[in-house]
Amino acid sequence: MSTALNHPFFLAEGKRYFTFPLYMKAKFGGRYQKVSVDAGFSCPNRDGTKSTDGCTFCSNDAFNPSYCSPEKPLLQQIDEGIRFHRLRYRRAGKYLAYFQPFSNTNADVSTLRKLYFEALSHPDVHGLVIGTRPDCIDDEKLELLAEIAEQYLLFLEFGIESCHDKTLLRVNRQHSVADAEDAVRKAASRGIHTGAHFILGLPGETEEDMLSYSAFINNLPLNTVKFHQLQLFKETMMAAEYAKNPASFHLFSLEEYTNLIISVLELLRSDLPIERLAGEVPPRFLDVPPWGNLRNDQILQYIERKMEELDTWQGKML
Ligand code: SF4
Repeated sequence: MSTALNHPFFLAEGKRYFTFPLYMKAKFGGRYQKVSVDAGFSCPNRDGTKSTDGCTFCSNDAFNPSYCSPEKPLLQQIDEGIRFHRLRYRRAGKYLAYFQPFSNTNADVSTLRKLYFEALSHPDVHGLVIGTRPDCIDDEKLELLAEIAEQYLLFLEFGIESCHDKTLLRVNRQHSVADAEDAVRKAASRGIHTGAHFILGLPGETEEDMLSYSAFINNLPLNTVKFHQLQLFKETMMAAEYAKNPASFHLFSLEEYTNLIISVLELLRSDLPIERLAGEVPPRFLDVPPWGNLRNDQILQYIERKMEELDTWQGKML
């Protein structure tokens, strides 16, 4: 998909950035709804492979829908997830099984094969979304994913979180920026659709540090990208750190975050689809509730309105 520099096609579609729905329509013919499944994986940063503490911000409960529990068989979780989504989004007809909580490549290849194909055996599931860590993938696992990608839609998502080693160290990620770059390049070189997730506002990062995410991302063969503002979840190590020393954190107001994410977008290549610009989790999970009770679509509208006012767009400053 080519876009002319400084006049990207999404402006003609009335958008200020390359939205994920625009991308899905252009590349895959329309909308697919993700249905989360919990296959009972752990994570190398929790099971002792790397550490037992986990990342300091980690709270997988906050992202796990109620229908999703490893005690239930995968196909039952998918059935319940589809029922849940059909009630809310009547237009949804095509589904992707989203292996979401923890690290969903954290098992041997034969176990992964069994679980992935079990999900794909559901008649309404057209493909998979697999979330994992950059250090939890190897050649054998990538071969399996490439094999699946030849027959089904397959989206691999890496949590990279920051492009600065000092930050990854501080939040106990237990992998490096170089690990992340390596994993993305290896996946992309096999033709696997590869996405990445970043958090803006991690402790110790300056505005300049955060603006440099764009150049880092521009240099990677990524197909999509997701951004979240830092949120503090109850009972996490980071919440305890915040309680002891709140001055070492800067939690953005909506206006501050809007200005920052717009600056990040202005420096981002305009052919990169943006799957998420901000995060929204139920306030009951949050230690420090931000921004009132704004829903994700309201946050997006706020950011888009500000981009209109400023007459700016993704890639404008490149
Ligand atoms: S890698 Fe993911 S699942 Fe594992 S501790 Fe970190 S945030 Fe949690």
